[in-house]
Order: sequence, then C-alpha cells, then structure tokens
Amino acid sequence: MGKNILIVGGGVAGLSLSIALARQGWQPRIVEANPEWGVYGVGIILQSNALRALDSLGLAERCLEAGFPYSTTRYCDHNGVLVRERTKPNLSNERFAASTGMLRPVLHQILRDEALRLGVEVRLGVKVQSLVQEPDRVHVTLDDGTASCHDLVVGSDGLRSQIRNMVFPGHPEPLYMGQSCWRFTAARPQDITCAVMYRGAKTQAGLIPLNAQKMYLLLLVAEPGNPRMARSKLRELLAERLSGYGGLIQELAQDLPPSEAIVYSPLEPMLMPPPWHSGRVVLLGDAAHATTPHTAQGASMAFEDAVVLTESLVHVDGMQNALHSFTQRRYARCRMIIENSLQIGRWQLQAWDNRPDPNEDIVGLSTRTLELLREPI
Ligand SMILES: Cc1cc2nc3c(=O)[nH]c(=O)nc-3n(C[C@H](O)[C@H](O)[C@H](O)COP(=O)(O)OP(=O)(O)OC[C@H]3O[C@@H](n4cnc5c(N)ncnc54)[C@H](O)[C@@H]3O)c2cc1C
Repeated sequence: MGKNILIVGGGVAGLSLSIALARQGWQPRIVEANPEWGVYGVGIILQSNALRALDSLGLAERCLEAGFPYSTTRYCDHNGVLVRERTKPNLSNERFAASTGMLRPVLHQILRDEALRLGVEVRLGVKVQSLVQEPDRVHVTLDDGTASCHDLVVGSDGLRSQIRNMVFPGHPEPLYMGQSCWRFTAARPQDITCAVMYRGAKTQAGLIPLNAQKMYLLLLVAEPGNPRMARSKLRELLAERLSGYGGLIQELAQDLPPSEAIVYSPLEPMLMPPPWHSGRVVLLGDAAHATTPHTAQGASMAFEDAVVLTESLVHVDGMQNALHSFTQRRYARCRMIIENSLQIGRWQLQAWDNRPDPNEDIVGLSTRTLELLREPI
C-alpha cells in the first residue's frame, strides 16, 4: 500500500496519527491552517482509555508527568457541601489513574514535539484549495499554489472540517444541543485534588486539577438559541451565570480573569454516518464524530482513531479494505459516546427547566459509559 499520506489539520487527531504512522516508519505530512499552530489555554481531562492510546504512541508517561492524575469525582451542592463521592473506573492499565487533568497547550506541545522529533513535515498557515481523486491517488492543491499527489488524504481538521465539506456532500452539520460550556484556568487550592462537580439550580460547575499550581473551572449552562457572546463581555456574562453559587465557586466568581482568558464554547455534536471515507479521503477525530464534553471523551476518541487507522493501514491489505476496517472498528464506539454524552446533557437541561426525568441517572450513565470503554479498541 502507498505510504504517501497528507494529514489536513494538526490538532489532537492529526498529530496523533502522524506520530503513530511515523513510529511505523512512514513519512506523513501535515498541513495546518493556523500559522501559530497553538490551542486555547484551558484544561482537558484525559480518561484512562486516552492514556492507553497515548501509551501506544509512547507518550503516556510524559502526559502523566505533566498533568494531574486523579481517580475520584466529588459531587457537591451549589455551596460546595459534599453529596456523594465516586471512584472512577480505571479503563485500562493500572499504571494510569482513571483520569488525568492537563493544560491543553502542554498536551499540544508534547504531541508537536514528538511529531517533529520523528521527522513529520509540517506546513503552517495553509489550507487545501482543491482536491481531485483518481482511483489510486489524490491530487491536492494548497492555497499557496503548491500541488502534490498522495495515496491518502486524512481530514483531521476538526468540527467545521473543510475536507468533510469538500468530499462528503450532504453530510450532517454540527447541531447546537442547547448547552454551552464556559471555562477558565485558575490557581489550584491545595484541597482540589480530584474532579469536584457543583450542582447549581440551572447550571453545572466543575473544578479539575491540572498540575501542582493550576486547575480549571468549567460551567455548563443552557443558552437558548445559541446566542453570539461578545468576546469583550465574557467576564461580565460569566459572573452573572456564577452568581447562584456559594463557597469556592463564589470566591472564583469574584475574582474572574479578563475576558480574553475565558473560553466560551457552544456544544455542537455531529456524527458522520459510515463510511468515514470516500475514495482515498478519510475523516478522523471531530471531523467524523464530535461529542459533547459530558463524558470527557472527544480527544480520547481522536487518539483511539489515530491508533486504529494506523493499525488498519499497516495490517489490512488494500487501501479500501483498510479504510473500511477503520470505520467498522470505530463507528459504534464513537456513536455510543455521543449518544450517552447527549443523554446526560438532556437530563441536565430537563432538570434546569424544572421537568426532571424520573429516570435521570447521570452518575450511573457516566460510569456505565466509561466501563464500556474498557473494551479493547
Ligand atoms: C467545551 C469542550 C470541552 C471538552 N473537554 C474535553 C475533555 O475534557 N476531554 C476530551 O477528551 N475531550 C474534550 N473535548 C473534545 C476535544 O477538544 C476534541 O474532541 C478534540 O480537540 C478533537 O481533536 P481534533 O484534532 O479532531 O480537532 P481539533 O482539536 O479542533 O483540531 C483541528 C485542527 O485542524 C486545524 N484546521 C481547521 N481547519 C483547517 C483547514 N481547513 N485546513 C487545515 N487545518 C485546519 C485547526 O487549526 C486545528 O489545529 C471538549 C470539547 C469541548 C467543546
């Protein structure tokens, strides 16, 4: 099988794939639209299935050292009074804690450094302008005028994938599910050593440790109609949304960072129907399946995608068979994550709207979802 692979998008999915392929002796190339090649500065939770996938990229130990491993979630009321505590299931190797909080820019740096160390060629500040498929190759022209020819093109260009738009007509669009997530990073008090969730009347707050010094706050809120939030007003708008909380969350609300340091994200899941390839173009990560963060699995799915696509390309005969095998191994698992994450979000929305579902079982569904991920990929 030809090994000349172009990866469009150098985020979690694209970088992981480049590393997995380079470890097999292949020489993938990345084109990345962002000339700075950075990520926004809040945190991310890596569940232990993410660590398992990172381990096969040779990066688990580095992530564990740079992050904050923990195995418990505390559930509190809006004033920080403990209601229950759950030990999170470990999904893979006992070497890894159930979860690891880490700064997104640190994770990005680890992936970037490894890709570059392995000799992956990266071009920044460019996009694909045209893409023409023949049965055995793909001709690509970039928007700087350069042209190249590849055995496979991978669209790992995120939720609003340009490659998906170009190659998969009629694909589903990301759809706002009624909630948005507010996030910022703050100094970590000594006693925030695991995830702590605070149930507000109409919102859900959480604190996640990231390293010895830092944690991040996340706040899930119903934002009907998916309004556009003015960038310069994020601080003021977040303060309003945190006003019902007491305890530590109230203290944080009174000392919010400037608007530029607050990240506001509408939650817009999307699932591509199978297959995730058309000819010699395949989608990876959020470009194929974007979930909401309720089970903290989006990046984990991207790492797993990278491992499985590499295994398929290396071990399955023929490009079409390899790409077919990739979707077959990934589709049901990614769909399960999206459906269960959405169910948790819907339960929250119903409770905030004073119509709680009598069958609501957020902790139970989160635990069952994580346990299903214990299965090998
Ligand atoms: C609020 C929120 C919280 C989350 N929390 C977690 C969590 O705790 N744990 C977890 O596992 N997941 C979490 N996720 C999900 C996770 O962030 C994503 O699933 C993950 O970033 C997907 O990686 P990706 O590489 O597919 O896409 P991205 O990270 O979006 O990377 C895409 C890359 O492609 C580039 N690009 C875009 N367009 C083009 C183009 N046309 N040409 C070239 N390059 C392009 C971008 O610049 C970027 O570098 C969260 C998501 C949200 C919204």
